[in-house]
Amino acid sequence: MPQAIGYAAKHSFSRLRPMTFQCDDPKAGEVEIEVLFCGVCHSDIHQAKNEWGNTVYPCMPGHEIVGRVARVGGSVTRHKVGDVVGVGCMIDSCRACEPCRAGEQQYCEGPNSWLATYNGPMVPAAKSPDGQNHYGRDNTFGGYATRIVVAEDFVLKIPAALKPEVAAPILCAGVTTYSPLRYWKVKAGDKVGVIGFGGLGDMAAKLAKAMGAEVTVFTRTEEKKKEAARLGVSCVPESDKDAMKALKNSFDFMLSTVPEKHDVNPYVQMLKRNATLAVVGALEPLAPENNMERAMHRKSVAGSLIGSIAETQEVLDFCAEHGIGPDIQVIPIQEINDAYRKVERGDVRFRYVIDIASLRA
Ligand code: NDP
Ligand code: ZN
Ligand code: ZN
Repeated sequence: MPQAIGYAAKHSFSRLRPMTFQCDDPKAGEVEIEVLFCGVCHSDIHQAKNEWGNTVYPCMPGHEIVGRVARVGGSVTRHKVGDVVGVGCMIDSCRACEPCRAGEQQYCEGPNSWLATYNGPMVPAAKSPDGQNHYGRDNTFGGYATRIVVAEDFVLKIPAALKPEVAAPILCAGVTTYSPLRYWKVKAGDKVGVIGFGGLGDMAAKLAKAMGAEVTVFTRTEEKKKEAARLGVSCVPESDKDAMKALKNSFDFMLSTVPEKHDVNPYVQMLKRNATLAVVGALEPLAPENNMERAMHRKSVAGSLIGSIAETQEVLDFCAEHGIGPDIQVIPIQEINDAYRKVERGDVRFRYVIDIASLRA
């Protein structure tokens, strides 16, 4: 087994620090990827800090991974050594349940659900022919590391038109916003509202615009007006109560990317009849909703989780075709703890991407 190095948190209040670990050899159907870049998603921070209450330590985050195929196991046909490839939030799923058979692995109903790229259980039977866990750890390690081994079906092809560092955030921020835009059938001429203008919000605005929608972003940060103007989308600060009220019954679809519990009622008011507000940000209970408002106009408040493997490939290809991608700031991994603080303060435009070369230096 080769050695790899990554950055991990040892407990919920520790900084991420370098850590060496045993990496798998690629088995049949698996590819070994030398990681080049990894995006910093707000979920990494929730997980590293145990904000969802399910973190197993040490926790090595990273699920917006782009790298180069270093080795392939037997029977691999989709990827070859040297290909530039991507890995998102999932590295496997049960493959047998109804959602998996329908190609919606992110809604896997198998006994262990889908296998998360990091903080997922090391399922011994799936990891080793003798059913034993030889890795000296209980959970999967993500992309803040020099290498990762993944089942080939869960590895995406990075289009040549996308720079690898720009492609990285598309593997989570991109697909998490693309999937609901497609599911709720956003089309040219629709009015789309995006709540929270961060890593996901930036991608949501760009994707919806590329689909022909008229986009408005809602922000608590007035200075982001200039970034919105640069994208060619409208921007409403949440503090502008008159502008908020004036948008009653205006939107065909809204997407909330706010990472904390927040009051969705003002946004439900803004939906048109029959329209949906999908919440992808907060996993906490939503503030009490006004059901009268929903009932009177048959409005929905829904959730949505990342996107399928097919949708992940689709959104990568869509971004390449439309010449769009996230706004990124590339950092060496040694700056990761500072980057976490800045993401929490909303002080990034719009996604940090770690250059993994800094781990090899
Ligand atoms: P970012 O921190 O990059 O962006 C979130 C934005 O929300 C901020 O930039 C800020 O924008 C706004 N915001 C409003 N209130 C707060 C607050 N109290 N604290 C921080 N930000 C706030 O996060 P991401 O875009 O990476 O992720 C957003 C959320 O989506 C996270 O909770 C993440 O875990 C979740 N997520 C969910 C997925 C799913 O499958 N459902 C997949 C991926 C991520 P502004 O300044 O414009 O107000
Ligand atoms: Zn993510
Ligand atoms: Zn399944």
